[in-house]
Amino acid sequence: MDCMLRMLPMSSNSNVVALGWSTLPKIFVARKSLGVSCSDLQCGFGYGGSRLNSSSLAFANFLSSRTSRFAAAANSRASSSLQQNQAMLDQQESTSLLSRDRRRREEEVDEVVAETGVVIIGAGLSGLAAARHCAKEGVPFVLLESSDGVGGRVRTDVCQGFLLDRGFQIFISAYPEASEVLDYAALDLKEFYAGALVWLDGEFHRVADPFRHFTDGVASLGNPIGTAMDKVLVGIVRLRASLKPISAILLSSEETTILERLGKEGFSQQMVDRFFRPFFGGIFFDRELQTTSRLFEFVFKCLALGSNTLPAAGIGAIPQQLADQLPAGSILLNSRVAELIEDEDGILRSAALQNGKVFRAKYGMLIATEGPEAARLLGSRITDTSASSPSSSSAAAASSSSSSSITKPPRSTVCLYFAADSTPINEPVLLLNGSKEGIVNNMFFPSTVAPSYAPPGKTLVSISLVGQLYSNYSDPELEQQVRKELHSWFGAAVVDSWQHLRTYRIANAQPDQTPPTNLQKQPRVDQGVYVCGDHRDSSTFDGALVSGRRAVQALLADCRVIAA
Ligand SMILES: Cc1cc2nc3c(=O)[nH]c(=O)nc-3n(C[C@H](O)[C@H](O)[C@H](O)COP(=O)(O)OP(=O)(O)OC[C@H]3O[C@@H](n4cnc5c(N)ncnc54)[C@H](O)[C@@H]3O)c2cc1C
Repeated sequence: MDCMLRMLPMSSNSNVVALGWSTLPKIFVARKSLGVSCSDLQCGFGYGGSRLNSSSLAFANFLSSRTSRFAAAANSRASSSLQQNQAMLDQQESTSLLSRDRRRREEEVDEVVAETGVVIIGAGLSGLAAARHCAKEGVPFVLLESSDGVGGRVRTDVCQGFLLDRGFQIFISAYPEASEVLDYAALDLKEFYAGALVWLDGEFHRVADPFRHFTDGVASLGNPIGTAMDKVLVGIVRLRASLKPISAILLSSEETTILERLGKEGFSQQMVDRFFRPFFGGIFFDRELQTTSRLFEFVFKCLALGSNTLPAAGIGAIPQQLADQLPAGSILLNSRVAELIEDEDGILRSAALQNGKVFRAKYGMLIATEGPEAARLLGSRITDTSASSPSSSSAAAASSSSSSSITKPPRSTVCLYFAADSTPINEPVLLLNGSKEGIVNNMFFPSTVAPSYAPPGKTLVSISLVGQLYSNYSDPELEQQVRKELHSWFGAAVVDSWQHLRTYRIANAQPDQTPPTNLQKQPRVDQGVYVCGDHRDSSTFDGALVSGRRAVQALLADCRVIAA
């Protein structure tokens, strides 16, 4: 590594070692001992190296004063701990023990402060979108992720050769932001049938999008999943939604619940209970259909304009594609931010990891975690939910309801996976429970949509329960309950031959999105502090991507104002 180390005085007890690059980031280490090598300092930022120059020296001096608070705290902790330990060591006669102990104590007081342009916390879709935008704008950043991989809630595990998405997830190809940001061809998107099979009264009934499957649509007019008028209404609502601009939908002043909206549109109770309840209940983990009508319209529009799909390599391929485009080494995994730290002027500028490392942001901190974690990190700072464009009375109501989307209990879901030797329904179609019985809401055979989800000759079965975690059941009890219920769907012999692979219980699947909502909250919550994530926009893949971009745009706009 082409680098040069230089010592700068920081305090009587410690020194600062500055590792200079011609571009950010610069890394500063406050430590008692100076046995530092370049490898100690590898934080993986992926920007080119060069020799320390005068501006980085000036910058080092600047940071040295800024970091005095961390250093003072570290030094005071260090000196008190050193005094205590020194007294203890004096009593020990063994010099080898003594030197070993000293080394250990010196390691304990190490505190690493790395500075970059923007510190992004959380590598879900919103954090990745923010990172992508920073990279595009040439803004240096580091992306800190607590878990062992990118994607947040959008991840895929491999189990016995099967691809298991962490919960039932569908990618709608017409998501507007996603279509700008992602390379669909590389994702190799595989399409679902545009419709569903609804389980009712001991048999499956087909519901089809007449614009895609005209014959099926006409044939389904007389089935018991709603009246013929309901099916005509679906066409009308679909057309209306497809013509409405997204902004008009997401900021619509006519906000109510999905349930009320369906009633106002004139849908029969039958259609609501047999089709919309399991369908939108499965999308929003909300069989009561209390989610905002804005999202009903948004999803309806996207479904009208695009297709339900799965990437061939699993849903996790979506965040992975974004991560692959970022500068090498800019993402730090297994790096949980324990707390945010204020500078002396009261402005949050640093994030401290559990291991003691501190990352300082020159331009701003961007919190891209789930809502409850953002609330933990930011405390009272995250109360501003005001709309970017306060065009509706509902937005004002949402504003006054403070951080409701992060304080209301989130939506939960459970997803069970099984391996089968064959598929009872050999088409890429979603199966909905249109009956009022049982706990299964929806299911499908992912390998009929994308054969890569199962090893050759095998079938993957995915079953979803929504609205709660079914904590009163153990995993084996839940598996048995689901099998029992599906005996009537496919026959006991078929269902009992399935091999259980895994059960995912996802407590925080989506934030509560009951009205009043504000689906375009201000990213900036304090000076230099920006929040993104599906609790700031809509809780969809698209909403998370939009919020990441909006947060960086807000940050850059503020920086430009300051610079001007
Ligand atoms: C089962 C399921 C099914 C879904 N289905 C769909 C669907 O079909 N269509 C759709 O559009 N949307 C769907 N969604 C919603 C969509 O996945 C989310 O809205 C979106 O992925 C949220 O992204 P995010 O970046 O806001 O948050 P997250 O994905 O939650 O990312 C937050 C990240 O922050 C990290 N983090 C948290 N705390 C810290 C910390 N202290 N330090 C460092 N890192 C931290 C987390 O590990 C995580 O990686 C589904 C969600 C689930 C759970």
